Amino acid sequence: RAKNNGKGNAAFFDQEMDELAQERRALEHDLRHAIARGELYVVYQPLVATAFASVIGYEALLRWNHPERGEIAPDDFIPVAEEIGAIVPIGEWVLREACRAAASWPKNVSVAVNVSTIQFQVPNLPAVVRDALSQSGLEAHRLELEITETAFLRNRHSALKALHEIRALGVRIAMDDFGTGYSSLSNLKAFPFDKIKIDKSFVASISDDEAARSIVRAIIGLGRSFNMPIVAEGVETQEQRQMLLDEGCPQAQGYYFGRPAADPFQAEEWSLGSPHLDKRDAEA
Ligand code: C2E
Ligand code: MG
Ligand code: MG
Ligand code: MG
Repeated sequence: RAKNNGKGNAAFFDQEMDELAQERRALEHDLRHAIARGELYVVYQPLVATAFASVIGYEALLRWNHPERGEIAPDDFIPVAEEIGAIVPIGEWVLREACRAAASWPKNVSVAVNVSTIQFQVPNLPAVVRDALSQSGLEAHRLELEITETAFLRNRHSALKALHEIRALGVRIAMDDFGTGYSSLSNLKAFPFDKIKIDKSFVASISDDEAARSIVRAIIGLGRSFNMPIVAEGVETQEQRQMLLDEGCPQAQGYYFGRPAADPFQAEEWSLGSPHLDKRDAEA
């Protein structure tokens, strides 16, 4: 009995594996052609500072509008793009696109671009950044790159070297998703980050989890002593916003302040010095 069942399952399993492999190959193929086919676009989410009342910048977030599958989330396609190396041209495209967009924004508004660990394994990243700046005319101090700590896992020495070269251009470097994954204080010691972004998982539980709140408080304290601004990611509620203000968190980002939008300066609601944002703050 068991034998028969096993056989049937194996055949079914094979077929399922075939389908998965085929689907995966199709996704890889489509991903390699997504730029040329104009399927990728960038949306921008506001970053607020000064008692969370003013917008000082926007984070560029990649979107893929697939002709058959519709919108595919970055968490579903960026890991694939990293595995097949497609993240290198895609990341370069995002960087150029974000710099070009930001060059038309008010001068006191900056742009943050996520850079994959894989992009650090290609030796020309500093040159790519320099070219994106010069082609767009964006001043270096208005660009910020967000990296996660996996960048340090492989080729630590060359990753640090690239970071120093990029920083020498005047570009700021932020550590993203701090507190998760491979977080290590030695990375903070090895490289002078300009900013730390507290992972949204801590912010999500800040109001009902004392441990999460203690961690957030400790990271804010760390930022103060390193003279590094701290950003709380994923702020969704007024309660979270108030707790972060009470803890002295200098910067924040999240749906509460604004969702990512293709043209943030068209979406009147969140334009700079927005009365809406001020009003919401006054009501709080
Ligand atoms: P991330 O860099 O940590 O970006 C923050 C993510 O949190 C974004 O998800 C954003 O839309 C989402 N978010 C913002 N506010 C809130 C909130 O209040 N609540 C919740 N639940 N989520 C919020 P998204 O756009 O889906 O991107 C996911 C991740 O994909 C990013 O995380 C980043 O690691 C990666 N990614 C996005 N664009 C790029 C890119 O151009 N290059 C690379 N290498 N990675 C990218
Ligand atoms: Mg980010
Ligand atoms: Mg993050
Ligand atoms: Mg992330």
